[in-house]
Amino acid sequence: MFVIGCHLSASKGYLHMLEEALSIGANTFQFFTRNPRGGKAKAIDEEDAARFMTLSRESGVSVILAHAPYTLNACSADEHTREFAKTVMEDDLRRMEYTPGNMYNFHPGSHVGQGTEAGIEMIAKQLNELLSPHQTTTVLLETMAGKGSEVGGRFEELRAIIDRVELSDKLGVCFDTCHVHDAGYDIVKNPEAVLAEFGRIVGLGRIKAVHINDSKNPLGSHKDRHEKIGDGSIGISAFEKFINLPEVSQLPFFLETPNELDGYAAEIALLKKLRKN
Ligand code: FE
Ligand code: FE
Ligand code: ZN
Repeated sequence: MFVIGCHLSASKGYLHMLEEALSIGANTFQFFTRNPRGGKAKAIDEEDAARFMTLSRESGVSVILAHAPYTLNACSADEHTREFAKTVMEDDLRRMEYTPGNMYNFHPGSHVGQGTEAGIEMIAKQLNELLSPHQTTTVLLETMAGKGSEVGGRFEELRAIIDRVELSDKLGVCFDTCHVHDAGYDIVKNPEAVLAEFGRIVGLGRIKAVHINDSKNPLGSHKDRHEKIGDGSIGISAFEKFINLPEVSQLPFFLETPNELDGYAAEIALLKKLRKN
């Protein structure tokens, strides 16, 4: 089955997002757990979450993806920023259990000059402090563009984090096509080779979700600026190939392209047309 959706605003709750997703032909969606720049989260409406769990199953939505705020940086040089990252993720993971069995994606972090190795250690430390054997949520490390001092632009860095986490069965990876391309992996010319490399280094089974975005910038630019599907340097034929590759075709795909709802509806329709099964 083709599981495809986009990023939606969480301001009106889960049921509203479900309705919105279904109205644009999506069968999944992503949302921010709180303001993307951080801050306090709205209290969970337990009734909304419970009704969502029932209705989503009835409407064929099998899994959704929550996204942590961008400001969350588990490997900041500043202790207060690291503490904030821990508090936010701890609260988010507690809230995720109102909609059990879903996924929570975060940007591993920026080491801000302390070095990739130190960054990896701090990210793994936070995960070891927060992951619990009882949680039903899978926590995803997002592949990054390698902008500035970002950790996670190389597949080896994701592997190094996973290797240091005790409850690594709770971990997966969210593969962002714009980020991977901007990081220098050529998913236009040879997506099979990129996935094979990911498979060798991290393991294909770790990929639990795909962020499907075109890129405003060339291969290896380390920029991270998303473009509409087909309007960027990845291009429509590369996406047609990618969404049909057996290594990823059964995963949920999430658009994070610069669009309003009608633009997302059009991209979802386009991708469905390009999909072979
Ligand atoms: Fe992201
Ligand atoms: Fe992304
Ligand atoms: Zn991005």
